Amino acid sequence: MLGQMMTKPLLISSLIDHAERYHGQTEIWSVETSGGVTQTSWGEVARNARRMASALTKLGLEPQARVATLAWNNRRHLEIYYAVSGAGFVCHTINPRLFPEQLIYIINHAEDRVLFLDATFVPLVAAIRDKLEGVEQFVLMGARDESVAEQIPGLTFYDDLIETGDGDFEWPVFDENTASSLCYTSGTTGHPKGVLYSHRSTVLHSFASNTRDVIGYSARDVVMPVVPMFHVNAWGSPYGCAMSGARMVLPGPDLSGDALVRLIDGYGVTLAMGVPTIWQGLLASATKLGSKLDCLTQTVIGGAACPPSMIETFREQYGVDTVHAWGMSEMSPLGTTNIPLAKHFDLPLEDQYRLRESQGRPPYGVELKIVDDDGNDLPTDGVTQGDLMVRGHWVLTSYFHMEDQALLQDGWFATGDVATLDADGYMTIRDRSKDIIKSGGEWISSVELENIAVAHPKLATAAVVGVPHPKWDERPLLVAVKAEGEEPSEAELLGFFDGKIANWQVPDKVVFVEALPLNATGKVLKRTLREQFAEALTG
Ligand code: AMP
Repeated sequence: MLGQMMTKPLLISSLIDHAERYHGQTEIWSVETSGGVTQTSWGEVARNARRMASALTKLGLEPQARVATLAWNNRRHLEIYYAVSGAGFVCHTINPRLFPEQLIYIINHAEDRVLFLDATFVPLVAAIRDKLEGVEQFVLMGARDESVAEQIPGLTFYDDLIETGDGDFEWPVFDENTASSLCYTSGTTGHPKGVLYSHRSTVLHSFASNTRDVIGYSARDVVMPVVPMFHVNAWGSPYGCAMSGARMVLPGPDLSGDALVRLIDGYGVTLAMGVPTIWQGLLASATKLGSKLDCLTQTVIGGAACPPSMIETFREQYGVDTVHAWGMSEMSPLGTTNIPLAKHFDLPLEDQYRLRESQGRPPYGVELKIVDDDGNDLPTDGVTQGDLMVRGHWVLTSYFHMEDQALLQDGWFATGDVATLDADGYMTIRDRSKDIIKSGGEWISSVELENIAVAHPKLATAAVVGVPHPKWDERPLLVAVKAEGEEPSEAELLGFFDGKIANWQVPDKVVFVEALPLNATGKVLKRTLREQFAEALTG
């Protein structure tokens, strides 16, 4: 016997319909690429999304045709998210920080038919246009501008294209498992790989992100996703905020600390999300500008390990609660968030703070386990470390156009992260499996050493990598960037580890660099550092 309840496919268009109907007046502030801030609303975003969906449909694209974006977080990008997926096409967000060769590969591999671009990326697209095999329409996200039109032959303009669409376009209804959006991982080796999300996975991910122990967007929040809309759909915030009717601030191209502090203070941002490197700049600017970040109540920090010192600064100096989160492009991305359990409130305050440092626990919809090299389950004792495996409603089954390559192991996806899990499901990332340092048969977590190093007041940032050692195979090397005007010595930095970790885990040496090499999503390129300093301990 079946239940006697209504069923409607879980489609992305239903999110914007809801936002239009119940939060139509709710404000969205968008920093435009041309400068200045535009105020729009969920109602206007919905109306424009329908018009653009109609315009794209009239172009004659086939169902699930890929429509790509090279764009910052702004209102047109938000409209495109809903227009493209809602109309039954696939919204392919591209990371503009990739190398031109990778961009060409991705655009051709995805078989993109339309490419929306912000003005910033006109020179980039002009340079590679001839190599983009299948793109028929290049659309600049703005009003007509003849001086720009000359740079890319055939360039059309968003504000013209949208005029060709009907305002009373009705969202088509189709299978909820239909592909909705596509995002390539910023792999540091080999070609980037595409993760193809579905309407169903996206809506379920939005429900999960809206629970209180995950992010829990509220209609009372002003949410600023600093994480780019080209990186795993800005962690799903454009969908989650529509579902809850949250106000949004879309920060545009300038992600400097000063610009972000001004947006937080100017628009009353209550909840901001991004990777740790962004908040380093923001905290420095808040001090410099004398801001107390009064409105901000919560930051969600993930994408790379959030140093405990950062959580502490937010808490002690600004009264901001930091939710440490972990996820991956392959899982839409939310995997875990660190929110305490009821029993934790009985612990001494210091222990409560320590508990908040790990990557947290999974919501309903995600399952985690750790395994050894042979795939055997390992204990969830909070100490044993192993390869982290996941499965769930918003985890991929295969990469786009690589369906023939078996990816899952007994239905689980191997994350490539090494982690510990405790009995409550709290997970601590020890490292990427390729970054963990193997010293004489023992494993040293580079993340743990980095967390200590970056708390040193004379360092701006730091990374730890394993480099060859004649006796121990590998030993940790601290690659440090000095804070402005500071001259820390090697001895003083290494002394800083005393008492914080076992002696044998302390790095063997410190090398100073001007800056750390970063990949397109702001993560440190450890492979580059390992190559660069391969002989640091043997040479
Ligand atoms: P991406 O798909 O580019 O978002 O990268 C996903 C990877 O980033 C994960 O597999 C982790 O290695 C890393 N990562 C994400 N969040 C965290 C976190 N909170 N702590 C440590 N590593 C993280």
